[in-house]
Amino acid sequence: MVRNTPMSAVIGDVTVYAATAHGPRWLPGQDVVIVDGRVAAIGPNAGVAADLPGDSAAAGTDGGGGHLIPGFVNTHTHLQQSVLRGAGEGLPLLEWLRCVGEFTVAATPEQTYLAALAGGLELLRSGVTTVVEHLWPNPSEAVHDAALRALDELGIRVVFGRGIADRADASRKWGMDPRLLQPLPEILAHIAELDARLVDSRITTALAVPNPRCLTPAGMTAVRDFAAEHGKTISIHLLETGTDEDMCRLHAARSAVDYLDEGGLLGERTLAVHCCRLDAEGRARLAARGAAVSYNPLSNMRLGSGVAPVPEMLSAGIDVGLGVDGAASNDTQDMLLALRMGAYLQRVTHQRADILPFDDMMRIATPGRCSCPRRTRRSHRPRGGRPRRPHPAALRPRFRLPAGA
Ligand SMILES: [Zn+2]
Repeated sequence: MVRNTPMSAVIGDVTVYAATAHGPRWLPGQDVVIVDGRVAAIGPNAGVAADLPGDSAAAGTDGGGGHLIPGFVNTHTHLQQSVLRGAGEGLPLLEWLRCVGEFTVAATPEQTYLAALAGGLELLRSGVTTVVEHLWPNPSEAVHDAALRALDELGIRVVFGRGIADRADASRKWGMDPRLLQPLPEILAHIAELDARLVDSRITTALAVPNPRCLTPAGMTAVRDFAAEHGKTISIHLLETGTDEDMCRLHAARSAVDYLDEGGLLGERTLAVHCCRLDAEGRARLAARGAAVSYNPLSNMRLGSGVAPVPEMLSAGIDVGLGVDGAASNDTQDMLLALRMGAYLQRVTHQRADILPFDDMMRIATPGRCSCPRRTRRSHRPRGGRPRRPHPAALRPRFRLPAGA
């Protein structure tokens, strides 16, 4: 693992997007004091009294009137796909999955390393400081090591979703590509081994389930128990299109949400990705279980999957975060583009210009796992919907102003 030396410095004359007692505001003329890699103080003259360690006392930088925002949390991507831009263009999800799957099976460690490095650089350049990587199941330890080496060298904070599945189906309708599967105990042992190696790094592991169709009831139990015992996030694509619902009803005689819920996979550590087809009953269930949702507007548009009911999910009390998804279904890793398109897609869908304004998109894209707005705003209430309750996780700023600033 690369061990970087944390930076200490004062950056002067910066306009900071910060939390205040009156909500988030742009504050001009601020000094930003960084001590050992962390923002220690922000204020008009905070740099004057800054006590920086050792030689860094002279490390002052003129911000030149620049603007500073909190780092973005990208709640979903597949960095291996950074070299697959344009892949499967024009194909719907299932055919796209089979197309991209061939590239994934053939991916070498070197290609994985370079793809993660290129994709990670694009994330950093667009302001992402934390990323949830959702790797597809892959039996090659060398492929995982290559991705982790790139992420470590980038210095980005990572929740590294190690792929896990236990139902094989080459068609991908009711299972995973058999060539990418391995026994569950091997996968769980590999995650435990990675955890031991990643202690004190910026990378933590999670369980990345492709979708509800890829786990048997016994597999769900194993994933649930491992996640509970080790405190792991479970990242899972859910209801991206109608396939999850159709296949769960066909093979398990229940809805996709019921299938996961009965398997114990809906909980406070669940990050459900997409949820374009999540209906009112499903939204109520995810909210009751405390599951969060990753909204990936560009990917949903590129594949024609649908529009995630973001205002409705927020109204139901679900935490929503923003994701770029893999470059094979997005063609970029640009978080700023996702931020803008994420708002515009909801506006054109609801035919209202006041949905998801800047402050609300910033709350969705920045703090912690996910968040929803603090105030019950009419602009987020679907017509005829009930008012959203204030959420306890609301407005957790990265930059908190010191008292009196
Ligand atoms: Zn995805």
